[in-house]
Amino acid sequence: MNPRPTADPCDTQMLTRCIELSRQATRDGENPFACIICDGDRIVAETTTRAARDGDITRHAEILAISAAQRILGTKSLAHCTIYSNIEPCAMCAFCIRETNIRRVVYSIASPVLGGLSKWNILGDTDISDALPEIFQAPPEVVGGLLEAEAEQVWREWHPVDWAILRQRRAMGNHDGATPVTATDSALVSVRRLFWRTLRSWLGDDHARPPGTR
Ligand SMILES: [Zn+2]
Repeated sequence: MNPRPTADPCDTQMLTRCIELSRQATRDGENPFACIICDGDRIVAETTTRAARDGDITRHAEILAISAAQRILGTKSLAHCTIYSNIEPCAMCAFCIRETNIRRVVYSIASPVLGGLSKWNILGDTDISDALPEIFQAPPEVVGGLLEAEAEQVWREWHPVDWAILRQRRAMGNHDGATPVTATDSALVSVRRLFWRTLRSWLGDDHARPPGTR
């Protein structure tokens, strides 16, 4: 599934703010992940990841925003809300989006390896809503790839080499018709440890290590 962007001034405004939040996250020592939840054009919650600061891999920006929105609105259901993220929500966050019945999901950069839509299709799954309609509503509308270049620029400025490797491995971004990122084998070997450092940081521990280094 490869959702394409639709022109919506509110989406563009909110996602622009979300991308700026992802830049702020890097200044706080985090990876560039950020999220905003809106009820109409009103911002209910805006967050960045806190995984590094809290030493907790469950502290994704989307989950923090969902928790805050539920608390602020005083309800478990966020069926009138839209969630914005600079990266396609992961599988963990996608399930929370489905269980809170968030109506729309808007993101910039696809996540073909970790994403809750393009990898595991949790956001688009109809089995759970067909089997348990009392809990799960129909899949949300998804708009992906909006302001992709702007969101990618934050990652590129943050760690140019890591971003190049993520693109080369097709772990981030929409590669349909895109010119592949190229790098020589020797260059990839020399920066390989940087990739694993990034991956370990994402996972929040030392589970991810290059083969043969344990
Ligand atoms: Zn997540």
